[in-house]
Amino acid sequence: MKSALSNLLSQLNSWLSPDSFSCVSCGGRSTQLSSAGLCSPCNRTFPWILEALCEVCGRYERCYDCERRERTYFAMNRSVVVYDAAMKNLLALYKYRGQERLQALFVEMLSGAYDHFQMSVDVITFTPLSSTRLAERGFNQAEQLARGLGAAKGIPVVPLLARIKHTEKQSFKTRKERLGTLEHVFSFQKDPDFTPREGLRVLIVDDVYTTGSTLNECAKVIREGMWAEIYGLTWAR
Ligand SMILES: [Zn+2]
Ligand SMILES: [Zn+2]
Repeated sequence: MKSALSNLLSQLNSWLSPDSFSCVSCGGRSTQLSSAGLCSPCNRTFPWILEALCEVCGRYERCYDCERRERTYFAMNRSVVVYDAAMKNLLALYKYRGQERLQALFVEMLSGAYDHFQMSVDVITFTPLSSTRLAERGFNQAEQLARGLGAAKGIPVVPLLARIKHTEKQSFKTRKERLGTLEHVFSFQKDPDFTPREGLRVLIVDDVYTTGSTLNECAKVIREGMWAEIYGLTWAR
């Protein structure tokens, strides 16, 4: 009885706390929030990608990256939003402050896109961070997003990749540098609890898709390690 009462009190407390009525993105107060706490004005203004013009990578405009790529190792990629200034800010808040409410929002967004683009996979994995960067930041946002999505959809999450080389931030490099430096950065990682079987559909989750070179390299490495069809889902692009 006592614990039921204290549960009720803590629930009441969470309802009444300022957080539960403020939008997780803009901080505005609203009584109509999505289950992850997004207000409807934000929902309307977010740069959702609803249509994919490039069948391969899901780009919303003509895609030179896919035309130029020599070999594409993934079946398709889809992304949730356009990586504009507002989304950059939101991702920075999540990555560098690790806000828990944002984690729920990002997972809700990924989960919505997974349904919207009618994706269907057997296993979820994620792009690994180097140990240097992991130590800097304390968590791998791609792994957290993958685990959240896996829990939401009831799909197992298996770490299939390891990063064997630390690379400088991709954003500081030219396109040519970016394309050349990813070789031998990742390696296939065997998981003792996971037995690959033929025809497995694997989804690689990451935060941002830029040229597709990271996803392509990860897909290549996984396919060298096991027979799989690779899909990508990123939060932004
Ligand atoms: Zn809002
Ligand atoms: Zn494309």
